[in-house]
Amino acid sequence: MEGLYPDRPATSSRAFVTLVTNADYALGAKALINSIRATGSTADIVVLHTDVPEAQGLDARLVRCDLLPTSDAFNVAHARDALHAKAAFTKGGKPPFHTPLDNFAKLRLWQLDYERVVFLDADTLVLRNVDKLFDYPEFCAAPNVYEGLADFHRMNSGVFTARPSAGTFDDMLAKLDVPDAFWRRTDQTFLQSYYPDWHGLPIFCNMLQYVWFAMPELWSWDDIRILHYQYEKPWQDHDKADKLRPLIDLWRMYERGEVPDLSTMPAP
Ligand code: UDP
Ligand code: MN
Repeated sequence: MEGLYPDRPATSSRAFVTLVTNADYALGAKALINSIRATGSTADIVVLHTDVPEAQGLDARLVRCDLLPTSDAFNVAHARDALHAKAAFTKGGKPPFHTPLDNFAKLRLWQLDYERVVFLDADTLVLRNVDKLFDYPEFCAAPNVYEGLADFHRMNSGVFTARPSAGTFDDMLAKLDVPDAFWRRTDQTFLQSYYPDWHGLPIFCNMLQYVWFAMPELWSWDDIRILHYQYEKPWQDHDKADKLRPLIDLWRMYERGEVPDLSTMPAP
């Protein structure tokens, strides 16, 4: 596990893994961890973090890591301002604390000492037990659906299944940082290119928050397993907060360590 510094040994061959590179995403991870614990999973929970002090109190195996050893040219091309200028976000807002280059550190999960991993963005919540995902093959992900049918062409890298392997990690690094590389949606674009025949998970395994107002007919509290607050984060003051109020209130409950009764959630 070169470049990884765990605070304790693994206690399972399976783990939910998230990534935290600053205090904001540590807050996200806190709610996520509470939500996973509430499902009664026996898998490990791992927080990969870049020496973030706020990660210290989290109820998880903390694995400190460095960002990937990418080249200067790669880092310049994927710096926040350069990326936003070249590939503007027109569908939603990215928080000020979101650093695109940090996303690539997700790939370090392939270095971990587990047989099977389910990766979850720090802005997700697990609403129902999803342990069966550990029995799914590499690489399963849900389509990036939040606006319309065209969204099915792309996958979303906020939730996926993986099998750690040093060989895969080395191969990924070699394919990632090639001359003139520009991955416009960072790890997401890279992973879709690395796994062009990705297996599809149901959208309920990665329900994106914009579906709430943009495609309400897809919403089904009975079916949603993982809820994903893509773009604006529920702990931020943002311009879609009024439209997303019940989802934000739900996130706040998990952040406080409460276990919500999903049967009382309103319809969109
Ligand atoms: N992340 C992080 N620091 C950053 C950017 C991203 O720790 O500066 C991690 C975090 O786990 C986050 C994930 O990478 O959830 C992907 O970013 P985000 O969820 O903000 O992207 P979105 O889902 O909005 O596309
Ligand atoms: Mn996310």
